[in-house]
Amino acid sequence: MGIPQIAVPPPPGLTAQAVDAELAKGAKWLRFPAEIERAYDVETGPRKVQQLTMSALVGIILYNLFLIADSMLMSDMFRLAVIVRLLVVTPISILIYIVLQEHSLARFRNLLAALNLILCFSATAWLLVLSADPQKVIYNQGALLIIFYGCLIQRLEFWYAAATALICNGIFALSVFLQGIPSGEIIFSVEITVITGSVFILYVAYTMEREQRLLYLMTLRERVRAVQMEGISNRDALTGLFNRRALDAHFERLQAGPPDWQEDHAVIILDIDHFKIYNDRLGHLAGDECLKDVARLLLAEVADGRGQAFRYGGEEFLLLVRERHFAAAVALAERIRAALEARGIPHPGSSTGPVVTASFGVSRAEPGDARPDDIISRADRALYAAKHHGRNRVWPSAPCQAAQLADTARLTASGA
Ligand code: GH3
Ligand code: MG
Ligand code: MG
Repeated sequence: MGIPQIAVPPPPGLTAQAVDAELAKGAKWLRFPAEIERAYDVETGPRKVQQLTMSALVGIILYNLFLIADSMLMSDMFRLAVIVRLLVVTPISILIYIVLQEHSLARFRNLLAALNLILCFSATAWLLVLSADPQKVIYNQGALLIIFYGCLIQRLEFWYAAATALICNGIFALSVFLQGIPSGEIIFSVEITVITGSVFILYVAYTMEREQRLLYLMTLRERVRAVQMEGISNRDALTGLFNRRALDAHFERLQAGPPDWQEDHAVIILDIDHFKIYNDRLGHLAGDECLKDVARLLLAEVADGRGQAFRYGGEEFLLLVRERHFAAAVALAERIRAALEARGIPHPGSSTGPVVTASFGVSRAEPGDARPDDIISRADRALYAAKHHGRNRVWPSAPCQAAQLADTARLTASGA
C-alpha cells in the first residue's frame, strides 16, 4: 500500500549522507555513482534531447548558410559544397535528430550528436582539401565555430565534447596538412588558434557541466530530506507504525481514485482492554512498552502484505486489510486476538483476564459508502459492541455475523 509521496521521489534507498558525500567530492570527474547517475540521466535526459533538437535545427540552417562563405572562399567547390551540405550532411543530421526522439534511443544522444558533429566537421575539412582557391586559408578558422557549437550550444556532455574536440582537431590538422598551404606561419597561426580555442571551449563546457551536476546534487539532497521528513511525519514516534495522518492521506487517495476500492477493503480496529488500569498499576513507561509490543505483533501478523497497520489513537490500532471476503478479515482479527492473548503480557488489574487482551471491531467497505472513513465508523461501532459484550473478542465474530451486525445497530441506536 502506498503512503504519501513527494512529486518526484529520489532513487529508493538513497540517503542524504550519500548525496552529501558526493557533494563533498565536488563532481570533479563529472560522474556519479551508478544509482545517482541513472537518476540524473533519467531526469535530465528528456530536457537534453529537447535542447539538442532545438539547437540542431538552428545549427542545420546555419551550416547551410555557410554555402555563402563557400561561394566566396572556395568558389571552385561551390557545386560540391551544395551537394555535401544540403544533400548529404543535412538529411543525415535530420535523420539523427528524428531517431533521437525515440525514447529508448535518448541515452545515445551524446554519441549520435557527437558523430553528427564530426560528420559536419569532416565534410568542411574535406572540401577545404579539395579546393584550389587561395582564399580558403581564412576559412580554416571557421573550424572553431563547429567545435564551439557542439560543446557550448548543443551542450554535449563534457567527455563526449572532449572526445569530439580531440577528433576534430586531428581531422583539422590532417586537413591543414593536405591543403598544401605554403606558409608555415599561416599553418602555425590557424593551428594554434583552433587548439587554444578548443581548450577554452572545453574549459567552459567542463565548468558548466560540473555546476549543473552540483546543482542537481543539491536539489537531490533536498528531495531525499523531504522524503525522510515525509516518512517521519507519517510515522508514530512510539511504535513506528504509520499514524493517523498517513491513514487520512491514504483514504483521501482512495476516494480520489476509482470507486472499486469498495470491493476489497476491510478495517479492523482494536483497542487494548483496561489499558488505563495497566498504566495505573505498572506505570506509563511499562504502558509504552506494552504498546510497542502490540505494534510488533500487529506488524508480524500483516507481514505477508495482507494489511497495513496504523496507530489510530492512544491504545487503539487500525488495520486496513485488502480482503474481498469479510469472513477472512474477521478470521485475521481473531488470529491477532488469540496471538495477543497467547503472548501472555501480565495485566494485574484487568477484570477480563490475567494477561493483556484487546477487543476488535471489523467492518468492510460497502457500495453505498460516501467516504472511505465510513468503514472506520462501522468498525468503531463494532468495537464498541465487542467491549459491551465482554471484551477480548472480535465483533462481529465469524459464526453469527448477521445477528451480531443487527446487535451492533441496536447498541448504536440505543447509545448503550
Ligand atoms: P477499555 O477496556 O474500555 O478500552 O478501557 P481502557 O482503560 O483501555 O480505556 P480508556 O480510554 O479509559 O484509557 C485508555 C488509556 O490509554 C488512557 C491513557 O493513559 C492510555 N494511553 C493512551 N496513549 C498512551 C501512550 O502513548 N502510552 C501509555 N503508556 N498510555 C497511553
Ligand atoms: Mg480506547
Ligand atoms: Mg482500551
